[in-house]
Amino acid sequence: MRYIKPDYYENFACTADKCPDTCCAGWQIVIDEDSYRKYMDIGGDFGRRMQESLDPWEMSFRQCNGRCAFLNENNLCDLILEKGSEYLCETCARYPRHVEEFDGVREYSLSLSCPVAAELILKQKGLWQFLEEEDEQEEPLAEEFEDFDYAMFGVLEETRSVFWKILEQQMPLRERLLLLVDLASRFQELVDAGECLSGYELLEHYVNTLQDSPELLLMRAGDGLAGTYMECLLRQEGPDFHKALEQGLEMLWHLERLRPEWTEVLAQCRVNLLPCGGEGHDFLRKEFYASFNERELQELENYRENIIIFFIYTYFCGAVYDDMIFSKVALAVFSAVFWEETVMCRWFLADKILEKADFVRLAYAYAREVEHSDENLIGVEEWLMDKYEPVKEENKFETD
Ligand code: SF4
Repeated sequence: MRYIKPDYYENFACTADKCPDTCCAGWQIVIDEDSYRKYMDIGGDFGRRMQESLDPWEMSFRQCNGRCAFLNENNLCDLILEKGSEYLCETCARYPRHVEEFDGVREYSLSLSCPVAAELILKQKGLWQFLEEEDEQEEPLAEEFEDFDYAMFGVLEETRSVFWKILEQQMPLRERLLLLVDLASRFQELVDAGECLSGYELLEHYVNTLQDSPELLLMRAGDGLAGTYMECLLRQEGPDFHKALEQGLEMLWHLERLRPEWTEVLAQCRVNLLPCGGEGHDFLRKEFYASFNERELQELENYRENIIIFFIYTYFCGAVYDDMIFSKVALAVFSAVFWEETVMCRWFLADKILEKADFVRLAYAYAREVEHSDENLIGVEEWLMDKYEPVKEENKFETD
């Protein structure tokens, strides 16, 4: 079994009662069967409290004013205080650690939805370093792996490492992202045609051209994606970008809403960013960027890059289960662009002043809504998948 994790993974430490937005409120916490049985066996006064605090239909902790029934007024967990952390159910013990399982590979990440993890993620500098270990452990073949497509997984892993190469290029972020979307579109086309293994040729061609003639690659990507939803979104200016933003906001608005804070963020964007139209929006963005010094601008770009790396690292190889390659990359780009819009809106409403905490707060607020509801994550991905357009004939490589 191979184990992969970002090098900052072990630096996470929950700040418990010091957390600015505890994960023990605002979400339903589903309990695994073993923990549930253990909870039912607790006796005495605490056992009685436990039984009153469990919802047997939902197999979850009951909530009081949106807070877990065991979260006390000091924002500490009474279950840990009374029985120790070994009594935590799987969800509580694991969060914000996240595992993506593949046959023979386990990938660990920290969820962007936790404030401490979000800060760790956003402040990474440069391309992430990953730690990889391997042992002899042969996991029993789980049912979900019976049809595991090893060949496709291999190409996906290789593609992800080409994404990292692209992100390392000395080009403006917009251009690097255009290449990510272009490569994902070309790979999607191969998979749709049942030629997933030709992905290796595509990657070789991509890497060679990236090395010898990145301008050519960029030109092809620009022409091939011209006028598509993702290209308009990446422009970040002009009426087509404004329209793309409006469509994206509408889609987010109609998702399942988990927390009232997020409704406020979306409503503020709709009220303040949309009515100003394309030109007004461009003007606002210019003013927004002008309010940063060079170091701060670089930091803003760094944050966006980290959001993109986070989504690609965490979800891209999951395409082995659903063949949705394009939408995994589109999700990463979309998330970074929308996060910046929410930051700009916050800046506008706060008399054009931002605190460092705002960047982190808006990143975990977004992740809590989009990532932490399977329904929403699937909804956003499917919506983005609908925006996929095959590469135009004249922009195909000879290898396509
Ligand atoms: S959100 Fe993160 S830091 Fe806050 S209480 Fe939960 S795990 Fe701890």
